[in-house]
Amino acid sequence: MSDIPQERRVLTAIPGPKSVELQARRTAAVAAGVGSTLPVFTARAGGGIIEDVDGNRLIDFGSGIAVTSVGASAEAVVRRASAQLADFTHTCFMVTPYEGYVEVCERLAELTPGDHAKKSALFNSGAEAVENAVKIARAYTKRTAVVVFDHGYHGRTNLTMALTAKNMPYKQGFGPFAPEVYRVPVAYGYRWPTGPENAGAEASAQAIDEITKQIGAQNVAAIIIEPVLGEGGFIEPAKGFLPEIARFAKDNGIVFVADEIQSGFCRTGQWFACEDEGIVPDLITTAKGIAGGLPLSAVTGRAEIMDAAHSGGLGGTYGGNPVACAGALGAIETMIELDLNGRARRVEEVMKGRLGEMRAKLPNGGVIGDIRGRGAMIAIELVKSGTKEPDAAATAALAKACHAEGLLVLTCGTYGNVLRFLPPLVIGEDLLNEGLDILEQAFATL
Ligand SMILES: *Cc1c(COP(=O)(O)O)cnc(C)c1O
Repeated sequence: MSDIPQERRVLTAIPGPKSVELQARRTAAVAAGVGSTLPVFTARAGGGIIEDVDGNRLIDFGSGIAVTSVGASAEAVVRRASAQLADFTHTCFMVTPYEGYVEVCERLAELTPGDHAKKSALFNSGAEAVENAVKIARAYTKRTAVVVFDHGYHGRTNLTMALTAKNMPYKQGFGPFAPEVYRVPVAYGYRWPTGPENAGAEASAQAIDEITKQIGAQNVAAIIIEPVLGEGGFIEPAKGFLPEIARFAKDNGIVFVADEIQSGFCRTGQWFACEDEGIVPDLITTAKGIAGGLPLSAVTGRAEIMDAAHSGGLGGTYGGNPVACAGALGAIETMIELDLNGRARRVEEVMKGRLGEMRAKLPNGGVIGDIRGRGAMIAIELVKSGTKEPDAAATAALAKACHAEGLLVLTCGTYGNVLRFLPPLVIGEDLLNEGLDILEQAFATL
């Protein structure tokens, strides 16, 4: 980690004057469609701190959207990626291969669930991994339909926009979308009409009924689901839902794809979130946390499925770039050495404890409708007090109050009413608690 002091420091308004100046240049030069949660320009980052160009030090509860789990300047990532940079930056694996790519695929085979023979292919972004999972599943099954779920998020390319549920901001005006994509219900416990205890069984029955009656199971190449839904609101499908969908896929020759791009690599306190209910996916997509901030993604799965695409059918100029692969090997080394699964579980313990206390102090829970998530992937769903009506305004106000005090938090959710916490897994417990203190004070501003 770079030598940034692990202390919050607020010297100016946030954003400060230098950030405001850069923001003006950015507005003139950068396309308006590319947004930023908080227009504070980064000077350096590491551990649980982001230092901006005005010298402010923010507590990081975002990890660049679940990417820098090992920190934004992890020693092993910097060491290995720097050495690789000096050796060579690129050859294109499809032209002349190199060992780092192979080693990442070997590690993925070891770390992902199941002891069957596995293979991987590497790409650059999460969306690209999901696209390739669909290509592979279609080549293997010789079927075309793809099933996804309410509140699902899978990316911003044309096919993955089609797979993504939420219109604004991801899809509005960007159609037409890829065909043969079908959306079915997910077991969203907090909002399931007959209650969370019934959601797993009822939602899976409903989803399976729709697949059978509206698509035909024999036409379905892949069912793709996030074991903990990310952008959609950190929804953990109610118990029983995932195993039932996985069983249905298996019984019908459908490739079951776990999109672990956000939930994977120790984020939920396990290597992969699907392990929680003993799910062994046929294919698993990874990205975000995989390489300590360098762009890398992967599809990993059963060797016979992965080998279904003909030679030359998969790839891309930069896929599995050697520097990104070196970063991934450094990130994995860090995860093991620092037991980041254990650290994630400790983050859950601290956060859920503190959030529970905050909720208990508000009459009837106040605006905190639900506290959920696993490991260092924790969220609160905000509602109009005493109802389940989503309160996006309160969510935005809370985020803004946290930002002003030097705590970076992100929002998400289909209704824009979820505050999500994704601290780097290496964050110190003092910073974690200080961040939660700021959040607690922010409730008073509502
Ligand atoms: C972020 C995300 C993606 C898309 O990844 P990009 O790298 O942004 O293309 C896909 N699926 C899930 C679950 C994600 O969280």
